[in-house]
Amino acid sequence: MDTDTAIKAWCDLLGTENTLIQSENLQTAQTATFATQQQILAILRPENIEQIQACLKIANEYCVPVYPISGGKNWGYGSRVPVKDNCALLDLSKLNRIVDYNEKLAYVTVEPGVTQRRLYEFLQKQQSRLWMDATGSSHDSSIIGNAIERGFGHTPYGDRFAHICGLEVVLPTGEIIHTGLGQFSNAKAAPVYRWGVGAFLDGLFSQSNFGIVTKMTFWLMPAPEYFQSFSFTIKEDQQLPDLIDALQPLRLNGTIKSAVHVGNSYKVLSAIRQYPWAEAEGVTPLPESVKEQFIKAWKLSAWSGSGGLYGTKQQVAEARRLIKQALKGKVEKLQFLDDQTLQIAKAVAKPYQRLTGLNLPEMLKLLRPVYRLMQGIPSESQLASTYWRKKTPPPREMNPDRDGCGLIWCAPVAPLEGEHAAKINQIVQEILPSYGFEPIISMTLLTERCLSTIITIAYDREVPGEDEQAMNCYNTLLEKLTEEGYYPYRLGIQSMDLLQKGEESYQKLLKQLKKSIDPNQVLAPGRYGSF
Ligand SMILES: Cc1cc2nc3c(=O)[nH]c(=O)nc-3n(C[C@H](O)[C@H](O)[C@H](O)COP(=O)(O)OP(=O)(O)OC[C@H]3O[C@@H](n4cnc5c(N)ncnc54)[C@H](O)[C@@H]3O)c2cc1C
Repeated sequence: MDTDTAIKAWCDLLGTENTLIQSENLQTAQTATFATQQQILAILRPENIEQIQACLKIANEYCVPVYPISGGKNWGYGSRVPVKDNCALLDLSKLNRIVDYNEKLAYVTVEPGVTQRRLYEFLQKQQSRLWMDATGSSHDSSIIGNAIERGFGHTPYGDRFAHICGLEVVLPTGEIIHTGLGQFSNAKAAPVYRWGVGAFLDGLFSQSNFGIVTKMTFWLMPAPEYFQSFSFTIKEDQQLPDLIDALQPLRLNGTIKSAVHVGNSYKVLSAIRQYPWAEAEGVTPLPESVKEQFIKAWKLSAWSGSGGLYGTKQQVAEARRLIKQALKGKVEKLQFLDDQTLQIAKAVAKPYQRLTGLNLPEMLKLLRPVYRLMQGIPSESQLASTYWRKKTPPPREMNPDRDGCGLIWCAPVAPLEGEHAAKINQIVQEILPSYGFEPIISMTLLTERCLSTIITIAYDREVPGEDEQAMNCYNTLLEKLTEEGYYPYRLGIQSMDLLQKGEESYQKLLKQLKKSIDPNQVLAPGRYGSF
């Protein structure tokens, strides 16, 4: 490994303005929402695909690895930090073109630097009748970066990777391939028929280190004639399995077409406000009595859920009827909301608060972004929850890495059945408080058959010892969950070793592939594998 010569060659190629080696830049990029040790050699900012190829040529020549990022907002999973030490970060944010857009067939082809904000604004400008899918992450997170991690959003197209079609990939050797029908330069159906003909390769380039994705086509959903959201609460933890089992048939038969999110009271509380340090008299985790006080004041419940209904007015009315029928006697406060009712609620919020004491304006502040996310409108409002344990308020420009917000996600998936929801809930309730953290949980009816749970370990990185405590907590949690058969849909940089627990022959195949695709091991070593 000839690091100095490689850096000099990258400098000659990209210029010093696009080859950052200053310690403050490297320090920033090495900082995540939990403790990391990895050092970054340089930050490379290519502007086009030829420069990416040339960067890889240098990496191969001097055996110095590169680690690609698109938006670099992989908060809670490692942010911009590579899995292994001594990589150069390949920051693809300058490749930010929307290269194709088809309103009629509802798709868009983008480069890695295209962010949620950029795509949303683009569609607005086109006066498009299409909706993108949005996640609760930053406006500046990358559409491609998220899809590569198989992240999910809130519309019927929320299972991102299920709605992509065709990738352009630069292999570690610098060769370029197009997946699906894209391998034929004149194939007219390349952006609309995802399977292509022959071996289907798209999955090889998600959660892997086999290639750098430089273009991806995303299918967009046509805006429905009518949209309505629904929300509900349950009073007790014990009602959770029944609730999940009541929603499951509706998700399976398509009455509910998008992810339904169900969060516990800690999740809602951390979305509404920061940790009540004064009321808790500095004690962590949050004492039950203090939690109850807030639950009462805000009229919160043990769990609150929401989802969207999409279709014609008639279809939505029928879905509403079926939901009411299925949830009868199982939930409290089943409410339906559309643009008009939201408008009215806004108008009466203040008088309502004066009359009832309920802080409706604040509740609406929380509700509106969730409502909009279901319509594919990105919102940064959830970012404030990463400041839950901080003692200073979230700044206008939120940046959890910079501000020492401690955050580790653990995201196990399970069959969409109440018994699994109850089991996961029980595991989290046992483990997180024993390490001094609130069991902040949200469960998502992600697909017709699968339940995804997002467990948040939130803390303040500036409190001595918390980094270590949080990581110990995460490790215990992951061990217990996997022991019970609940594996994460995605991993943080700290837990790639989990894959070693998998089938030996599977790992062997991946290693063989890596060896032939990346003979000098220059692309993202250690990412989703030991290679
Ligand atoms: C409050 C909050 C809410 C969140 N909500 C959600 C949510 O609703 N859904 C969700 O999925 N996530 C969510 N996240 C997690 C995370 O922020 C998002 O997943 C985010 O989209 C990831 O960052 P990014 O898109 O900038 O991807 P990046 O950080 O650029 O990429 C992620 C990883 O993919 C690999 N990669 C990136 N680009 C390429 C490429 N072109 N070629 C090869 N490999 C590449 C890299 O290894 C990189 O580390 C949330 C985080 C927070 C803090």
